[in-house]
Order: sequence, then structure tokens, then C-alpha cells
Amino acid sequence: MTDEAEAATGAAGAATPTATHAFQADVARLLDLMVHSIYSERDIFIRELISNAADACEKLRYEAIAHPELVADGAPFAITVSLDPDKNRLTVADNGIGMSEADLIAALGTIASSGTKAFLDRLNAEEDKKAEAQNLIGQFGIGFYSAFMVADRVEVETRRAGTDAAWRWISDGKGAYRIEPLDLSLAPTRGSRVNLFLKEDAKEFLQAYKIESLIKEHSGAVAVPIVFLDKPEGEEKSLTDGAALWAKSKSDVTPEQYTEFYRTLAGQFDEPALTIHWRAEGRYEYNVLAFVPGSRPFDLFDPARKGRAKLYVRRVLITSDADLVPGWLRFVRLVVDTADLPLNVSREIVQQSPVFAAIKKGVVTRVMGELTKLAENDKDAFGKIWENFGSVIKEGLYEDYERRDALFKLARFVSSTHPDGNRTLADYIANLRPNQTAIYYLLGDDAKRLAGSPQLEGFKARGIEVLLLPDPVDAFWVGTAAGFEGKPFKSVTQGAADIKLVPLADGQEAPKSEDVSPKVATLLAFMKQTLEGAVEDVRASDRLSESPACLVAPEHGPDRRLERILSQHGRLDELSKPVLEVNPNHPLVTALASRFGGDGDKAIVEDSAWLLFDEARIVDGEQPKDAAAFAARLRRVLERAAA
Ligand code: ADP
Repeated sequence: MTDEAEAATGAAGAATPTATHAFQADVARLLDLMVHSIYSERDIFIRELISNAADACEKLRYEAIAHPELVADGAPFAITVSLDPDKNRLTVADNGIGMSEADLIAALGTIASSGTKAFLDRLNAEEDKKAEAQNLIGQFGIGFYSAFMVADRVEVETRRAGTDAAWRWISDGKGAYRIEPLDLSLAPTRGSRVNLFLKEDAKEFLQAYKIESLIKEHSGAVAVPIVFLDKPEGEEKSLTDGAALWAKSKSDVTPEQYTEFYRTLAGQFDEPALTIHWRAEGRYEYNVLAFVPGSRPFDLFDPARKGRAKLYVRRVLITSDADLVPGWLRFVRLVVDTADLPLNVSREIVQQSPVFAAIKKGVVTRVMGELTKLAENDKDAFGKIWENFGSVIKEGLYEDYERRDALFKLARFVSSTHPDGNRTLADYIANLRPNQTAIYYLLGDDAKRLAGSPQLEGFKARGIEVLLLPDPVDAFWVGTAAGFEGKPFKSVTQGAADIKLVPLADGQEAPKSEDVSPKVATLLAFMKQTLEGAVEDVRASDRLSESPACLVAPEHGPDRRLERILSQHGRLDELSKPVLEVNPNHPLVTALASRFGGDGDKAIVEDSAWLLFDEARIVDGEQPKDAAAFAARLRRVLERAAA
């Protein structure tokens, strides 16, 4: 026990233990930011406290299914915001679940909210840019601690529903908090009262009109009614009715209400890019309100890949992370409410029921349908969604076999002929060149860099479009997809290029790789011997027109990019050896061939073979095989050139 706690215990007597606790380090850091900074967006504290109060009511509503005695007092759920100007006090009270002493320690001394964690991570990444915090704070749900932006002391009086113990949590936000027992006569029957003693510069929040308008603006869609009292003995005024927005008919909901609801649901404070609201009728009946966010949520690539899907059964919140959409739609935020699932079983069992499976299927089909419609009717709006979430949706091409064809219709690509993107596979097929037998693609990290790959040269010369696929997931779906409209997907860096039959775009006859001169053939054989162990083969290329050489994967086996991804994740011990393709018509190659045939200066040709190989690796974003040997060879060649 700390000195302060001991002193408090001593003063209050042994029967009333008061304990002082230090905040977890991260909380202390966050609080420091809250206490010492003046954020332009500090208004948000009220929406955060109301959101916690509403969560507390929803938790109790759920617990009361199994334990109806918890709500035996019959009081309807409500959130009460009240002002006491004489005491400088603003209170947000709820009659929800409340907190035990252990709950208080676990919840209000650590970082509980994922939004808060994400906020701190972003700050870490942007260390020393406190101004950034100002811009960021409104975008993350930073939770309870935001109270310290406006209050220099916060007291939480709380009683866990169904218990006979109540507690007061007190802190000035400076490193520690205190918990003391609270006399039941002073405590709420159930739930919590969060009392903020406002800072000198935050008195504006004692003005009734200000608080009322903030609540209406930011918390109007909260599913628990909110009442307001402008002074201790004032008259209760109802601010919101707590009606479930999703149960209303579309014509009764304004765009602003949808946005507000989206923000509460998503914990993200942008505009939704797509709002989908419907009531399914038929075998099962349910209401759905779903949103595609206007920007990427911070946890989009979190391995846990949690969606934010709320499942209600007859207005009772069963869970906030229902498994209602597959991983590749995890950016969709939604609420489903149904009367067709039983209320009295566990969350897990509810989600295993066939009714749940049917609802999930219905939701995915509808969301897909709306995305497809948008793609047809508003290319720009869909383009933005694809820009944000395309790399996630593409996971469906790999994971959701049944919907692959539908997803192929949605997918948008950047290609060698359309670097700005927005190409569909249908566009690609409409643009096939005579004798073209496949849909060609190139895998990599970055579409811009891919556009400069030597492997594309022969395709460019023939006017063949190549899809540039920069996302890690691309390496997976292209390998399993059978094709689109009868055309297989084919990597331009794998196997021999089968493009000889496609005429050059300028109408000229292309030289054929099988027509190489005997001198070049001898050179290639010598290069193969030199690079033995490092390459699978050295051969003349059909896919090069400007560069002297490039690397490709052998005909069978994985693409080089997929291999690299697998090996980065420790799932592949050894990379397979590539094939070095050489441009038989390149001046460097013909010069080397004649030199080799002439005085047979093997050392130069050996150095050249290795340098061409390493250069091709570098162009593919890899390191030279042996950096020291590479440097020595390069130096030798430069010395000769300078001599
Ligand atoms: P979040 O609400 O995102 O989890 P907060 O920092 O706002 O994060 O709150 C932390 C935790 O404190 C909550 O998860 C909840 O357990 C608890 N809590 C906060 N306010 C209340 C309340 N009014 N009633 C019950 N529990 C609460």
C-alpha cells in the first residue's frame, strides 16, 4: 500500500479501506496528453462517456436474460446527463451493469479500448509530433480517459447490478487513482455515475444548450434513451428516444442520422462510403444496417481480423463482434437484429445455429449485390471503395470459392496499359490481342515499379495488356483461380513466354527465339555452365526487346514472387532456381557472342554472365547473389572500360 493510501485508510478508519493504485504506464502517458493539452476536439468526451453508458445498459440487458433478478427494480434503461453549475459538475449516469472493485481496477487503470491502443500506437509512430495528436484524437474512440481533457477531477460512483457493494473511483488524472467504498445510501441502485469536475477553461460545458446540442449531434443514434437535467432540481428533458435506427423504415431516417449511427458503431469519425439498410423477409426475418467506411479502419490488417458486427436478438445485444461477414468483408460495419434466434443460449451457440448461418449468407449476398450495383452505377464511388478495401476483398478470390466469379466481376486492376487502374477483367478480355491465349499478370510489391519490369517488354511490343498485381494476396489467388471467361491466368515471369504468335503492335515481324545464331547459342551454353548451381537454365527470350536479360520462374512450380512471400514467412526453406532469359538480339549479347567466338576471352564473358544475372536480380528487387563478388566484377569491367 502506498503512503497516501495508508494515510487515507488511517484517516477513515480500518473498516473503510481506501486503496491507491498507479495507472498503467500507457494510461499515464495518455492522461498526460489529456491533462496538459488543449485539444480543439475535446467535445468528444461526451460522446465517449455516453457510449460507455449505453454499452453498460446493453451488457445488463443481455445478462438479465439469464438473471432477470438483476433488473427486478423494473426501471427502464436510461442515460441521464445532468449539470450542477454551482459545483462545476457534469454527470453522465446510467442504470446499466455497473462495476465491482475488480472491474474498476481492470477497466479504469489500463487501456481497455482498442481505439485508445491504436491512438497510442499512432502517436508512437509520430513521436514528437504532439500537434498530430490534436488531429488524430477525434478520429479514434479514445474512451473514458478523454474526460480528463475537460475535468481536473473525475469521480465514478458505481454499483454492479445485483450486488451490495458500491465504490467510488477518484482521480485527478496525474499518475494514480483511488478507490473507496461508497455507502449504499449514496450509491446508484445499479449502474454508474461519472462525475466530471470541470476545469476552469471548460466551463462552457455547463451551458445547457451546448451540452444538448453536442448530445443530439454525436449521440442521437445511441440505442438507449438519453435524458437531460440542466440543474440539480431541474426538470428531466428527453433528448433522444433510444429507438433502434435499424428497425425504422428507410424513409424515416435522414442521411445525418445514418452517419451518426455509423460513427457510433464504427468508432470511426468519417462519412460512410455506402449505407445498406434492409429488412429481410421470408424464411427468416431480420433487420440489417450495414456500412462500408469512407476510409480504412486502423485494424484492417490486424491478424485477428475482427469485424465490427453487432448481433441483436429482439433489441438485446448478444455480441459486438458477431461472425456475420467473412474475413474479406471485415471492413463492413453492421448491425443485425432478428427475432428468429433464441435469446436464452450462449453467444457461441447462437452463432452455430443454422439460422445464424442463413442470416450470414443473406448478409454477404446483399452486401455483394449492393457493391456490384454501385460498381455499375457509380464508378467513381466504387473506385474509392476499391482503393481502400480492394486488397481485402481480393482475399475472397482465394478464400471464397463460391463467390469467386462474382468477385471477379467486382475486381479492379492496374495494368501495363492502364496505370491509373480501374480496369475490370471484362475490359481486359475486350482488349485481347489476336492469338492471345491467356490473361497475363506480373506480381510484385509496387505497381509503379512493376510497370518498369523488363519481363514486360515483349508484351508491350505486342500491345498485350498485363495486370500488375502488387498485393501479397494476389500471389495466392492467381495460383488457384482457373481463369476468367475461358482464359487462364498466366504469370509473365514464369515459363517460356507463349506470345510468339501475337503480332507486334507496329506490324513488324518479331525475331523468334529459336532462330538464334550458332554464336549466340554457344554463348548461352557457356553462360549456363558458368552460372551452374545458381540458375535452372539460360535460354533465348521472346519476352525481351530492350533489356539484355531477365529472370523468370521455371514452367512448373510457384511464381518467384509467391516463393519470396512464403520464404519471408518461414514457410519455404529454399527458393527454386530461376531461369535466366537472354535477349539474343541485344547489342551487348551479340558483341559478347562474337568476342567469345573470336579470341575466347572467357574471363570477360564469365564476369558478364554473372553481372547480367545479378543485374536481373536487382531489377526484380533482390540483392546480388554475392555482393562482394558482384562489386569485384563490376570494378574489373569498369577498369577495362576506363583503360
Ligand atoms: P472502451 O469503452 O472502448 O472499452 P473505455 O476506456 O471507454 O474503453 O472504457 C474502459 C472500460 O471501462 C470499458 O470497457 C468498461 O468495461 C468500463 N466502463 C467505462 N464506463 C463504464 C460504465 N459507465 N459502466 C460500466 N463500465 C464502464
